[in-house]
Amino acid sequence: CMSSKKFQQAQQALQKYWGFPTFRPGQDKVIQAVLDGMNTMVLFPTGGGKSLCYQVPAIVLDGLTIVISPLVALMQDQVEQLNDRGVSATFVNSTISSWEIEQRFANARNGMYDLLYCSPERLKTTLWEVEMPKLDIDLIAIDEAHCISEWGHDFRPSYREIRPSLEDIAEEVTWIALTATATPEVRDDIQKSLELEDPVIVSKGFDRPNLKWWVVETQKKDNKLFKAVKKAGPKGSGLIYGGTRRNCEELSQKIEQKLGIKTRAYHAGVDSADRQQIQQEWINGTTPLVVATNAFGMGIDKSDCRYVIHYEMPYSLESYYQEAGRAGRDGEESFPILLFKEADAIIAEKRIKDSYPGKEELQKVYDVLCDHLNLAVGSEMEEREEVSVQALEKRAGISRRKVRTALDVLSQLGVIELVEYITPQVGVHFIVSQDYVHDQINGLDNQQKAEFLDVLFRQFGGEAFGKMKYLEFDYIQRKLGVSPNALKKGLQVLQDRDHMLKYESIGELPLIRLIEERHSNLSLSTEKLEKHRNNLLQKLEYMKGYISTDNCREVYIRHYFGEENVEACGHCDNCLDTNEAAVPINNDEIHQVKDLLKEGSLSLSEIAARISWNKDRTKRLLSYLIREQKVVTVGDKYAWQDS
Ligand code: ADP
Ligand code: MG
Repeated sequence: CMSSKKFQQAQQALQKYWGFPTFRPGQDKVIQAVLDGMNTMVLFPTGGGKSLCYQVPAIVLDGLTIVISPLVALMQDQVEQLNDRGVSATFVNSTISSWEIEQRFANARNGMYDLLYCSPERLKTTLWEVEMPKLDIDLIAIDEAHCISEWGHDFRPSYREIRPSLEDIAEEVTWIALTATATPEVRDDIQKSLELEDPVIVSKGFDRPNLKWWVVETQKKDNKLFKAVKKAGPKGSGLIYGGTRRNCEELSQKIEQKLGIKTRAYHAGVDSADRQQIQQEWINGTTPLVVATNAFGMGIDKSDCRYVIHYEMPYSLESYYQEAGRAGRDGEESFPILLFKEADAIIAEKRIKDSYPGKEELQKVYDVLCDHLNLAVGSEMEEREEVSVQALEKRAGISRRKVRTALDVLSQLGVIELVEYITPQVGVHFIVSQDYVHDQINGLDNQQKAEFLDVLFRQFGGEAFGKMKYLEFDYIQRKLGVSPNALKKGLQVLQDRDHMLKYESIGELPLIRLIEERHSNLSLSTEKLEKHRNNLLQKLEYMKGYISTDNCREVYIRHYFGEENVEACGHCDNCLDTNEAAVPINNDEIHQVKDLLKEGSLSLSEIAARISWNKDRTKRLLSYLIREQKVVTVGDKYAWQDS
């Protein structure tokens, strides 16, 4: 039949252009559906292999595949990679001259490409309107489709315009939308905005079979934390999310004192060179434990983290999954553990409700921000800029926490782009010509300095002559083979004495860019804000649901991320509980406990230790014996009742 022939062609393309023997589970389903002309939604986590889901069909299908992608850099990378593999693809975005764009459209018209990548803004141009009817488009792929949703983490207003811009061909083409953010509200939003009726939804890969999810409900978090670290510590490195800076400092000190495990605190208040060092030592294992705020982790790749403990609950399951998921990337047994007490949920809810800014407050912070950036009404920002929240706080005359929250909300509503580079970066901008730098490198007597300059020049490249270019501190430091201080000193000399460049270190301050030009009035409706606030509360409810569920934790998570027909993991705390409960209590066990307690009353831990069962099982047996009136409790001890 027709479609299986096409699927065979898809398999051949996979082998020919990528050299991969088979599709991953899920990819096959998606590609089959797309080749059958079904509108499809793909929900795979990052690294799950979403790109192939439209790239392979693009090769097999006769017509053109349009790929909508939010980031210029991403687009360029993908196109280069495809070209390297021998797949014909190109892109159009704002970095290309209009002459070149017309050229590429002409090529596309002549069927030269299998894929044409473009930014959502392109679809609104007149050129696109003119060219679209002339193109033979078969497939439209929306990558990072969560950008459509105000409830995602990367809202782009222009993503909302995709469907209207493509209205004329919408019914004739096949649609595929892809994202790693698969929460119910984002899914709904994507479906609605793209007007996909009954799409095939393929959600996969949110399972992490080596992770043993655990929730510990307790009034004594410190105590439980020390116990957990003591138990998990010998297995390898770990990470504790401490919530506040102060918690991080205090907990890391206490753990080091009590357990003698080398532990460091990591948060935005730690000096950036120190942060760099902590991060590196954690990765190479010399500091086995870090207590961090949720700033830690972005872009850090450590495969053998054995446990992640949350001392404070995250406000959404997305955040929790992402943070806890830093455990066990290597596939070895690892433990995500959440410490929780009832009050946490109440405080969380109160915090969302109390701190949610009103319309006036958002407008005020927006105005103050624009003033701070010297932006007049109507003008646009090209680049992100560092913004000190403290400076805004002063101008606005409202508390820092409120400014922070307002910025978060503005970013979630797609008004600003807010990036926090907790991974320290160095920016370099050469203010002399490339030739001059060349001459310097060749003419310097000081070999060390010449080398330093040479590496800088090669790493930052031509781009750094036009503007400030940023690279990760850690990366450039390794390339130079110098200490963090030597790097700073070297840059200082080149800046202040030689006047060859300007440099800056970033990492402490958030980077902000206005997505649209400055408006005099944000026109945020109360209704919209209300909806957004309720959404945050809804997410919190799901998080609370994870904590309170009696069923398998992994099943709960995977359902949340849209997977169906999921089987219990068999090894989370809840699954183990159920397994244990199923074990019938037998006379032998009762006699063992009886013999023990006849010698004298004992605490739960003592009993468990003496008969070498785990506590839950022991507790269950004791409850049974109490119900049967064989055992009574005296304080925290259990005694056999002779009668
Ligand atoms: P995503 O967009 O979902 O984050 P990518 O499309 O970037 O993921 O793919 C992640 C990695 O997986 C890439 O290195 C890709 O080459 C690899 N990959 C994808 N599909 C397959 C496959 N069928 N066999 C082997 N490797 C694959
Ligand atoms: Mg991708």
